[in-house]
Amino acid sequence: MGLSKTQGGMGFRDLVCFNKALLAKQIWRLWKAPENLIAQIMKAKYYPNSTVLDAPLGNRPSFAWRSIQGASDLVKDGLVWRVGNGKSIHIWKDKWLPRPPMYTVYSPPLLFDPNATNISNAEKHFLWRACHESLPTKANLCNRKVTRDPICPVCEREAETTFHVLWQCPAAQDTWSAGCRKFQKSCFEGPFFLPVVEGMLRVCGQQEFALFAGIARRLWLRRNALIHEGDFLHPNILVQQAT
Ligand SMILES: [Zn+2]
Repeated sequence: MGLSKTQGGMGFRDLVCFNKALLAKQIWRLWKAPENLIAQIMKAKYYPNSTVLDAPLGNRPSFAWRSIQGASDLVKDGLVWRVGNGKSIHIWKDKWLPRPPMYTVYSPPLLFDPNATNISNAEKHFLWRACHESLPTKANLCNRKVTRDPICPVCEREAETTFHVLWQCPAAQDTWSAGCRKFQKSCFEGPFFLPVVEGMLRVCGQQEFALFAGIARRLWLRRNALIHEGDFLHPNILVQQAT
């Protein structure tokens, strides 16, 4: 029924999407025609010191404003910016880059103590790649149009992002549970792996962080061995190797 009439359907619209599109159109009008009376009233009431796209929800917003403001992310997602003289660009805040991890410019954090001797160079290099989304996970290869199949080859349930393969995947969680208590008690939200490393740096001592780095790299090697050789190490053996 949702198909268009030309495709043999009945042309019913997806009402949720349709409503969002109408609200986004309202934002676009407020943005493009600030001289209109309604735009001036909205600006005076809700965003006197910013643009409609940066406007906060504020205290006790009206239903109309809450709805319109809620659609601003949709407009921002589709927005293309002509740089011009660059005066109105916020280098640290605006989305610059076409792909994750952050879409924005950021200084790579100093992740590791350069004098730490208990983390091998291979592990440092691996974590650096994982934090910068440069591992060839299936999801990353999909983003680069190398493959069309993003599904995790281990659990075959979800897209294989770096966060998934190294942390969220049930097989990864089994392995972290076999590690130390701090790994078991840690809880992270995706979609990126960088917050996991930052979180571990906060709560772990040097020995524990070395174990974390060792397990993370071996999870990736185990995943590769599964794909290329059909082997899959038991979590306990993997942790033993990393210790
Ligand atoms: Zn998985």
